[in-house]
Amino acid sequence: MIKFLDLHKINARFEIHFQERFRSFLNSGYYILGSEVERFEADFASYCGTNYCIGTANGLDALTLIFKSYIHLGKLQRNDEVIVPANTYIASILSVINAGLKPVLVEPDLETYNISPEEITKHITPNTKAILVVHLYGQLADMNAINALAKSEGLLVIEDAAQAHGAVANLNVKTPNSKIRKSGNLGDAAAFSFYPTKNLGALGDAGAVTTNDEDLAQTVKLMRNYGSSKKYVNEIAGVNSRLDELQAAFLNIKLKHLDEDNSKRRSIGKRYLQEIKNKKLILPFYSCENDHVFHVFVIRVIDRADFEAYLHAHDIGYLIHYPIPPHQQNALSMFNEELFPITEKIHKTIISIPMSPVMSEDEISTVINVLNAY
Ligand SMILES: *Cc1c(COP(=O)(O)O)cnc(C)c1O
Repeated sequence: MIKFLDLHKINARFEIHFQERFRSFLNSGYYILGSEVERFEADFASYCGTNYCIGTANGLDALTLIFKSYIHLGKLQRNDEVIVPANTYIASILSVINAGLKPVLVEPDLETYNISPEEITKHITPNTKAILVVHLYGQLADMNAINALAKSEGLLVIEDAAQAHGAVANLNVKTPNSKIRKSGNLGDAAAFSFYPTKNLGALGDAGAVTTNDEDLAQTVKLMRNYGSSKKYVNEIAGVNSRLDELQAAFLNIKLKHLDEDNSKRRSIGKRYLQEIKNKKLILPFYSCENDHVFHVFVIRVIDRADFEAYLHAHDIGYLIHYPIPPHQQNALSMFNEELFPITEKIHKTIISIPMSPVMSEDEISTVINVLNAY
């Protein structure tokens, strides 16, 4: 059996370090917003190249807190429209709704699965105030085009970077002193999730906001902790969405291995792209640069039910990201009448095959051979 994702194997690599860190965490007697959270915030900001990182309880909260903070700062108003890709994970859309804003769903590009800048242009109205970009499946969206568009229209750009930790942008302008720009530092603000299955995953829930905007950073930091920076003094009506101290301790250990893990994912992606040769299977687009961190490796197949049965019979794990598009979910009934043909086509035909930094060359070869024999 080749697992879709072996989470235990991924984390077992760090077992001794986790145990050591847990022991000092336990002995410290300090369990909320301590030195581990502080260290993670400093190190993850520096990893992304941003001035600020604020830890949160999860990725959905990170997104929601960005929007609520922009409302608090007067940069967004209730019912402003936010453009969101129609084929994203539902959390992106829920964050916009939960903050009291209006999501406007836009079709992706069929080749990259990321939001199409042309489609964004078609959906801009006088009420549009922000674009929520999702780097879906680990591949950066077309940030050159999206940032240029946002600049000319005066829109905020927020990244949902929950699937793209460490992805490096290929920017138009390459001057000798231009910094490498990574996901989390490609718009006005970004949200990350460290859900265990993500490229940088905790052993429970965790998330973070990154930004270069000092006002936004301060507001998110207040809001995630009851609107309080001084104990029992509440400046704004906040929430409890703190990054857990123990999860931050685990993340501090794992952050050091993120680049290495992403390289391994890319090398698996390259092998799949070179060696899977089957006309029934549509392989994903990849520029061969570091703008993709292969959170998942998504292929398309017309008769998916038949292919699923085949994988099952050959003991190859798989998942579908995602089986029901957000606009067809009962939870989002306001979109149920709308049609998104590209999104629907993607959701009917996609399937994700095994991808993780702990796959052996033999396992990769087996997946390739089984797919070629389909
Ligand atoms: C995982 C994920 C989220 C939400 O993260 P949680 O930590 O589960 O709240 C948001 N957006 C995308 C694209 C995701 O993949």
